[in-house]
Amino acid sequence: MMRRFKGLGVSPGFAAGRAILLRSRAERLQFHLPERDIEAEVDRLTRARERVRAQLRDIKARIERTAGADRAYLFDAQLLMLDDPLLVSRALTFIREDHLNADWALQRAGDELAAVFDGAEDPYLRERKGDMFDVVGRLRGSLRARGPGADSLPTSDPGPYVLIADDLPPSIAAQVDWTRVLGFATDTGSWTYHTAILARSLGVPAVAGLEEASSRIAPGMMVVVDGDAGEIVADPLPELLSRMPRRRPLAIGQGAADDRAPVTRDGRRIRLEANLELLVEMPAVRAQGAEGIGLYRTEYLRGAGPLAAVSESQQFEVYRTLLEQMAPAPVTIRTFDIDEEQAGCWGPPGRLGLHALRLSLSRRDLFVRQLRALVRAARHGSLRIMFPFVSGVQEVREARQILQEVIEEIRAAGGAIPSIPVGVMVEVPSAVLTADLLAREVDFFSIGTNDLIQYCLAVDRTNARLAEFYEPLDPAILRAIRLVARAGRRQRVPVSLCGEMASNPILLPLLIGIGITEFSMAPGSLAQARRIIRAVRYDELRQIAAGAMHGMPARQTERRLTEYIRARASADHAAADERHDA
Ligand code: PEP
Ligand code: MG
Repeated sequence: MMRRFKGLGVSPGFAAGRAILLRSRAERLQFHLPERDIEAEVDRLTRARERVRAQLRDIKARIERTAGADRAYLFDAQLLMLDDPLLVSRALTFIREDHLNADWALQRAGDELAAVFDGAEDPYLRERKGDMFDVVGRLRGSLRARGPGADSLPTSDPGPYVLIADDLPPSIAAQVDWTRVLGFATDTGSWTYHTAILARSLGVPAVAGLEEASSRIAPGMMVVVDGDAGEIVADPLPELLSRMPRRRPLAIGQGAADDRAPVTRDGRRIRLEANLELLVEMPAVRAQGAEGIGLYRTEYLRGAGPLAAVSESQQFEVYRTLLEQMAPAPVTIRTFDIDEEQAGCWGPPGRLGLHALRLSLSRRDLFVRQLRALVRAARHGSLRIMFPFVSGVQEVREARQILQEVIEEIRAAGGAIPSIPVGVMVEVPSAVLTADLLAREVDFFSIGTNDLIQYCLAVDRTNARLAEFYEPLDPAILRAIRLVARAGRRQRVPVSLCGEMASNPILLPLLIGIGITEFSMAPGSLAQARRIIRAVRYDELRQIAAGAMHGMPARQTERRLTEYIRARASADHAAADERHDA
């Protein structure tokens, strides 16, 4: 029966296709296997069981040594469970007979066994349910760690399909083969959630904040994603499907680029660069005429694994490729912007914990490894290094000191290193308030409005329910941006802006009015940005910006900007018609 789910359109366009589900905060993958993949899946689960057996024996031996044999017996129960005919063996039957993927099969076997435990009279048996879940968790972790996990989707199911997830964190998104994804929808998420940013870069229609869609849609069901209206329709009526514009899976780098320089009508030259998450976006970056890469988010390198597992040489290869492909244009590479859990440091997750540059400073080994890869790659193009989430001068000094040591070490070993500009993201309010001091320490600023808005206005950027409070037009945000632009201008430090505000056709002119002249945005937004810039006048935008910063209500500012851009665009058309007639 047809069902609609309302959410937030985070990437425009339509898509329709069969659903593939990613559940339990993207830990649980559910899909049907084609016949030819069944034995490989059986083999994968069997090998995961052996790895878990070895892990459990290790843990047991360690506990015996440290806490005594009477503590270690607990793990005997888990070891026995691995061979319980109702668990792994049962899951293997589900794979063979119902063609479920291993993760799904294991989950179904686990649910059945849990019901058996629940029904047991013996309280000892009932308590074993926790052990069982522990074992299932370990098995699933092992399946994921030794892929194919999310990245098995493309090989197991050639698609194209629509991805439905409760959450689609960047670590999983980085593994998906997007050329087979028609569209996606998530229960959580928002406009500036990284996967939404990625969807826009790739031109994949997406809806976020659907709350419960992933638990209401069955794998294989037909789903329509409407990224413009911010809704999805499950099991649509045939009439709806036939009315829908057809969309093919992603063809990156298509579309004619306008190669005229982005200059306002009164002669202000604006510089446009691209944000990048995945190397597959490179053709689009070049086709759209980006003047450089203004932000490469290196945390995407880790895929679904911990960052600690990404080696120096792996990093070097990616950095070198980027630099070579863009040379002589600059490539701004941001050091890891992740938390302890993502780094694999066993610390708690969260951006307000040990995170980004602070984490790099406390995990010097990981930081030095990344800086070494960057510095070694520098001679292959025009590298700029950027530190994320800087909160003040001291952190920058410390980070630069470590970078200097890395440079000297590589130089001493005979490596040739060009000079590397070093900059910071300005995205924490304390960095805004000390921008004049920071300007003395760095070669460039890049304003990260995604985080700046969240921390200035105290609104979680990933929470769709708070979307109305996440207000880029709040005078506080506009003033913060002006403060940074002024500090940069006074000390001749170039200021760029790489948050999602730059991709928005209404906000971009306002930012120009505030005084920003360099932007970095999703490659897919560059053509539109260029068109808008060529239509507007800086002197007029300055006035609108002044009004907005003096406390004009956000909706009024928005209306004013919309009217202004509409009027400018139609003046453009009229002028073009006149030329045509002449
Ligand atoms: C930002 O915060 O604006 C930004 C560009 O970085 P990220 O979205 O990666 O946090
Ligand atoms: Mg940020």
